[in-house]
Amino acid sequence: MNKNFGNFGGQYVPEALVKPLTELEEAFQGYCYGEEFKNEYKKYMKEYVGRPSLLYYAERLTKHLGGAKIYLKREDLNHTGAHKINNVIGQILLAKHMGKKRVIAETGAGQHGVATATGAALFGMECTVFMGEEDMRRQELNVFRMRMLGAEVQGVASGTATLKDAVDEAFNEYVRRAGDTFYVVGSAVGPHPYPLMVREFQKIIGEEAKVQILEAEGRLPDYLIGCVGGGSNAIGLFYDFLKDDDVKIIGVEAAGKGIKTGLHASAFEGGKVGVIHGMKTYMMADDKGNIKPAYSISAGLDYPGVGPEHAYLKDIGRVNYVSVTDDEAMEGFRLLSRTEGIIPAIESSHALGYAAMAAPKMKKEEIVLINLSGRGDKDVNTAYEYFTGTSRAI
Ligand SMILES: *Cc1c(COP(=O)(O)O)cnc(C)c1O
Repeated sequence: MNKNFGNFGGQYVPEALVKPLTELEEAFQGYCYGEEFKNEYKKYMKEYVGRPSLLYYAERLTKHLGGAKIYLKREDLNHTGAHKINNVIGQILLAKHMGKKRVIAETGAGQHGVATATGAALFGMECTVFMGEEDMRRQELNVFRMRMLGAEVQGVASGTATLKDAVDEAFNEYVRRAGDTFYVVGSAVGPHPYPLMVREFQKIIGEEAKVQILEAEGRLPDYLIGCVGGGSNAIGLFYDFLKDDDVKIIGVEAAGKGIKTGLHASAFEGGKVGVIHGMKTYMMADDKGNIKPAYSISAGLDYPGVGPEHAYLKDIGRVNYVSVTDDEAMEGFRLLSRTEGIIPAIESSHALGYAAMAAPKMKKEEIVLINLSGRGDKDVNTAYEYFTGTSRAI
């Protein structure tokens, strides 16, 4: 199996991780492309997650912007409110086939931790989630959710006690307990085979969207737009359209307070090629090549690297990567809430913010399909603070 996407990806890991990752790759190849596994995965997608998610024509938003027709792929309607569950169910199903009894995950804002705890409960697995102690303070509600679902949340006090430290701890635990433990990675990142595996579990988004847009419009869209943190919802939407040359594809990173300020999360605009979390890719780095911390108003885009398949798609010019500031994203958040009665996740609002700037310049017969990766319930405090300048809604 090819470990790379062009010059990117690979497996930059300590010796102790090579064996478990090789076993994982073999199991992934052995099970996940078989009919039995695919049917089981599809059954959970339908009966538990609630797929297919709707493709919704946003008529009022379209009229308001006065340009291209805008469609939304409603991943926010999935059980647990985002696309992350697609990947988590796929990986835990694989863990079950491998005979593992326990799953671990790392989490920053808590979204991937909650999704993993949900999947673990569904499959009766033991679950430990590593989370920086600083993040545990900031995201108390998600800590309660994980515990409610039966997961153990293990605080990590080392370093800055945030996501990076939680990732280190999860990898250490994986090395210690690879015999009975499966490490559920939350985005299309990490050493091979994770980026490939996560894409395979998320590509259902684009496969459904293609059928749905053909049904609605009788043709493919002119543009696809998805927000890019690690890149899983975006590659999930994009993958099935990569060979359709007439479809223009746009990935939207977080420009935070502006690329020039250094306070952003754009691995492409502000970064360089290096090694981060076991993969070679674009990442935010200082002059010495050390990882620079990322900043975005959205916790889910606040990641200094990007999935290696996106790095490849950027280099071959198939996908155009742009970035949108906090302010532009929050305008997208406000717009969708007011015109359609749908409160989007702030991550997804970056894709909406870009569309709000681009769609008015497009022709009325053009079609834009946006991945609405998640719902905004988790973000109401942040949004309230942003719009009112006062702290905490509740
Ligand atoms: C986690 C998250 C993201 C960012 O992750 P990707 O892997 O880039 O998709 C985007 N949107 C929502 C709603 C999320 O929860």
